[in-house]
Amino acid sequence: MGSPWSELLANLAVVAMFVSVWIHTHVWLDRRAALTRATAFGLLMGAGAVILMLTPMQLQPGLFVDLRGTMIALAGFFGGPVACVIAGLAAVAFRFHEGGIGVFAGAMGIAIATLIGIAGHLALRGRAPGRVDILILAATAAAGSPLGLLALPREIMQTVLPQVALPTSLLIFLSIMLSGLALYQERRRIEALQSRRIYKAVVEALPDCLNVKDLEGRFIAANPATARLMRAVDAKALIGKTDFDFYPQETARKFHEDELAILAGGVPSTIEQRLHHEDGPDGWLSTLKAPFRDHSGTIVGLITHNRDITTRKQLEDELAESRVRLADALTHMADGLVMFDGDGKLVLGNAQYIAMFPQTADIRIPGADYRDILRISAARGEQIVPPDKIEDWIGGIVASRKLPSNRQEIRLSDGRWLDVRTRPTSDGGSLSVYSDITEAKHVEAELLAANEKLNLLANRDGLTELLTRRAFDEALALEYARGKRSMAPLSLLIIDVDWFKRFNDHYGHPAGDECLRAVSGCIKATARRAADAAARYGGEEFALILPETDARGAFVIAENLRKGVRDLRLAHAGSEKGIVTISVGVGTFDPGGASIEIADLLRRADEALYGAKVAGRDRVHGWRPHVSEPHATGARRRS
Ligand code: GH3
Ligand code: MG
Ligand code: MG
Repeated sequence: MGSPWSELLANLAVVAMFVSVWIHTHVWLDRRAALTRATAFGLLMGAGAVILMLTPMQLQPGLFVDLRGTMIALAGFFGGPVACVIAGLAAVAFRFHEGGIGVFAGAMGIAIATLIGIAGHLALRGRAPGRVDILILAATAAAGSPLGLLALPREIMQTVLPQVALPTSLLIFLSIMLSGLALYQERRRIEALQSRRIYKAVVEALPDCLNVKDLEGRFIAANPATARLMRAVDAKALIGKTDFDFYPQETARKFHEDELAILAGGVPSTIEQRLHHEDGPDGWLSTLKAPFRDHSGTIVGLITHNRDITTRKQLEDELAESRVRLADALTHMADGLVMFDGDGKLVLGNAQYIAMFPQTADIRIPGADYRDILRISAARGEQIVPPDKIEDWIGGIVASRKLPSNRQEIRLSDGRWLDVRTRPTSDGGSLSVYSDITEAKHVEAELLAANEKLNLLANRDGLTELLTRRAFDEALALEYARGKRSMAPLSLLIIDVDWFKRFNDHYGHPAGDECLRAVSGCIKATARRAADAAARYGGEEFALILPETDARGAFVIAENLRKGVRDLRLAHAGSEKGIVTISVGVGTFDPGGASIEIADLLRRADEALYGAKVAGRDRVHGWRPHVSEPHATGARRRS
């Protein structure tokens, strides 16, 4: 052994050496499991402790100290309990192997260092140790190290303790501080390295261009995306070059001007730049430029971040173009078009839509509420809605917007008709198309009237306007079926003008027609119930269907009719009565009686009429089986 100083340095060198070995190997070990790492660290520090025990410092002849506590405390503090226990066990084992009087004191010292290391580690609670933490560890270990000496035999302890305690504590403190700080710096270095590696990976993988230029516009740094944009071989090929080396003169000059403006302003700014390549289509960049400052804050260059927005720009152009086209189409379409959003607010309405509602054009604007529009429209009398029904009316219209397909015709108070087709839109709103159908409505009304007329012509007799024979047959079948169903009686009158041939012969055919018209007027006046149906049965014969009327009732009506015709007092020279008279036959279908068919009903009325004629005319006859039956067969047959 040389002087205490050289021994001290040798001891510190051993500590430094083992710390250094750890610094150089732990990166490789970092990829292993935590237990492997802790074991390796513990073994290394344990080996360090053993070496230190082999090379102790001689404070006084026969009085040796070493820095084993440093290694063990560091193992615990930085490596955790496992590393610490392993280092401690290695040291204790060696100490027992060495033997001697101080064995127990040595083991005790090792145990104390182990406890301090583990306690320090646990106190960190998973946090990376800082410089203050290392200082506390060093101080604690320094204070705790002499405690081991208490295990020496009393007389030895009393001589040794005063001479050894202070220098040992100082050495432990010093060595822990030095090696702890070295480990601390190493961790910081690794962290910095890692974050630099992450930044680099991000920048390299970034699809956007990121680069830094000096004040003359030369590239200092650039990522691969920048190289791709500038069509350079790689990012390195850009270093020292400017935009003028890659872009056409005009484009590069424009870029340079933009950069000078940012440098002059001294604040970051985002601009859109047109990119022109000689050999390809033009593109667009969204560019963020920010001044690059050194530590003193002086601007030394420019950071640029570019994003290729060519596709976005193209989409924007296409969108603008299609907007113009859509607006054009909306303006020139014949129909009104209006769109409401999910909240019922007007989004869009074309000029035709507005023009269709002149009284409320001022409120049919974007943002207006559909309910308010309807309410005001009703209030201004644009649409006729009873005041107490307005809210129901609005609710119905608003609800119908949600129907998958909805078509309505609305009538405005000025007489116009609008056809409204509404569909829900994908965003929960609705789209309505309004067409003015006033013209079509008028045509429709005219058509309906014409149809009505046609119907009348088909079913009404031209001379008397009573039902035709065909319509009579239908009406009789209907009433017969109804009577049968509801168990109601049905009567039928057959009316024939007396001596009419003679009337015609005497007064002429046109006068005959007039007479028939007059008689039909009487029949119409007699058939007062809505369901009563009068028909011209043929020539000068008429028929009257009387639903829900029994024989007695029918007889009364027939008598009234007969009297009515007499009361017309139409002169008839060919009749012994001197006036136009009629004979009436009454047939009745009584659901309570024997079941008869329509043909039977007709036959009975016909036979009754025949009976009236035979009996002297100008009278009403009901059907009487015992009287009529013998005459019935083939007596009269009608077409
Ligand atoms: P009766 O009392 O037996 O019924 O004697 P009638 O002359 O009325 O007898 P008949 O039924 O044979 O005569 C019907 C006549 O009615 C025949 C025809 O000249 C006349 N006639 C039929 N249809 C029309 C018509 O549309 N207009 C006119 N003016 N006469 C008609
Ligand atoms: Mg006749
Ligand atoms: Mg007649």
